Amino acid sequence: MAVVLIIGAGLTGCTLAHRLSREGVDCVLLERGDVPGGLIRSEHMDGVLYEPHGSHIFHTEDEEVWKLANAMTPFNDYRHRVDIVADSQILNWPILLSDIDQQSNGAEIRAQLAEREGTDATARAQAANFEEWCLELMGPILYERFIRPYTEKQWGRPARELSAQWAPRRVSVRWDNDPYLFPDPYQGWPAGPNGYTDLVDGLLAGPRITLRTGVDVTLDNLERHAQEAQADSIVLTCPLDVFAGERFGRLDWRGIIVRNVHIPHKEYAQGAMVVNYPGEEYPFIRIHETKHASGQKIEGTVLGFEFTGAPTRYYPIELPQNRALNDRYQDFLREQISDRVHFAGRLANYLYIDMDDCMRQALDASVEVLDALRVST
Ligand SMILES: Cc1cc2nc3c(=O)[nH]c(=O)nc-3n(C[C@H](O)[C@H](O)[C@H](O)COP(=O)(O)OP(=O)(O)OC[C@H]3O[C@@H](n4cnc5c(N)ncnc54)[C@H](O)[C@@H]3O)c2cc1C
Repeated sequence: MAVVLIIGAGLTGCTLAHRLSREGVDCVLLERGDVPGGLIRSEHMDGVLYEPHGSHIFHTEDEEVWKLANAMTPFNDYRHRVDIVADSQILNWPILLSDIDQQSNGAEIRAQLAEREGTDATARAQAANFEEWCLELMGPILYERFIRPYTEKQWGRPARELSAQWAPRRVSVRWDNDPYLFPDPYQGWPAGPNGYTDLVDGLLAGPRITLRTGVDVTLDNLERHAQEAQADSIVLTCPLDVFAGERFGRLDWRGIIVRNVHIPHKEYAQGAMVVNYPGEEYPFIRIHETKHASGQKIEGTVLGFEFTGAPTRYYPIELPQNRALNDRYQDFLREQISDRVHFAGRLANYLYIDMDDCMRQALDASVEVLDALRVST
C-alpha cells in the first residue's frame, strides 16, 4: 500500500489527502499548527461564526472543484458585495457608474471617464505601471479617491512602483452597475454550523487519512518523519525558504493581521461583509463581518479589523528575483529529497491563489503523485 506524506494541512494539503485516499493511497498529514485548515478555518467567538484570517468567498468557474467542495459541506448562495468608505460616504466597490453623481465633483469625474471611454483594454495593458493603468481607466479623481491610498496601504510602496499586471484583476469601473464583486457562475459560503471548518473536516474524514498537528517539519527532520510514515512520496505545501533553513535567503511577502472583536447586542455592525477603508486616517484597511455570508441567526456579531504590514506570509511580492529564488528552492529540494517530492499550494509555489485554484492544484498534484507512484512500483 502506497503512503504519501503531506506537509501542511491547509486547504491544499487536505484536498490532496482527500483525493489520494479515494484512490487507495494512505496519507499522513503533518501540520505545524494545533488545528488543520490554515488560512480558511472558521471559528466561533461568543457563539458567532467568524473567520480569524479575514473573509473567504468561494467563487469559481471550475465545476469539478465546486462539486467537490459541496460534497464536503453544502454551500449557500451568498454573493459577495463590498462597500468602500470614500469621499466621506459609503459607496460600492467596484466603482459603479450610478454612484458617480452622488460623489463630489461628479460632473468632472464623468468628463474624465468620457475622455477615456475609447481606450481599449489591450492598449491599457501596455501601461508602464499600476498607477498609469488605473489613471488611463478612470482619471485622476476616482484614482485618488478609491485606488491610490488603498493600494499604497496594502503594498507599503508607491502605486507607480507596482506592476500593471496586477490591475485588471483588482480594479474596474462597472459601466453596467453590477454591484457584485465576482462574475463566476459558482459562488457561495459554507452553509453548515462551522463554516469552512466543515469543509476541512469533510476533506479529512476517512480511514486512510492520518493527521498529526503541532509538528513543524523542516528539511533537517524530514527524513525521520518520512521513515516513520514509511512514505513513498512527499508533497510540500509549506514555505520552501523556511523549510530549507533560508539557506539561499528569505522570500518577501506582504502580510496582514486581522484583529477580531465581538460586538454584543447588534445583529449586524456594517452594511456588507467587507468594507474597505482606503483613507490614510484609518490605521486598518478593511473590516470584515462574516455574518453577512453565514446568515447565522444570533444576537451579536464579530468584526475583523485588517491591518497591513504584518510579518505574515499572505501576498507574494511578484518580482523576478523572488520567482527565481522560489525556483531555486524547488530545484534544491528535488536534488536533496529526490523525485519523490512534489509541490502544491500557495506557499510552496510562492503564489497568491484563491481557494478554487488551490483545490485545482491539489487535484492536479494528486495525478502527478499517482503517476510517479505507478512508475516507482
Ligand atoms: C487575506 C486573504 C484573503 C483571501 N480571500 C480569499 C477569498 O475570498 N476567496 C478565495 O477563494 N481565496 C481567498 N484567499 C486565498 C486562500 O486563503 C488560499 O487559496 C488557501 O487558503 C491556500 O491554502 P494552502 O493550503 O495552500 O495554504 P495555507 O492555508 O497557508 O496552509 C498551509 C498550512 O501549512 C502549514 N505549515 C506551514 N509550514 C509548515 C511546516 N514547516 N510544517 C508543517 N506544517 C506547515 C501551515 O500551518 C498551514 O496550516 C485569501 C487569501 C488571503 C491571504
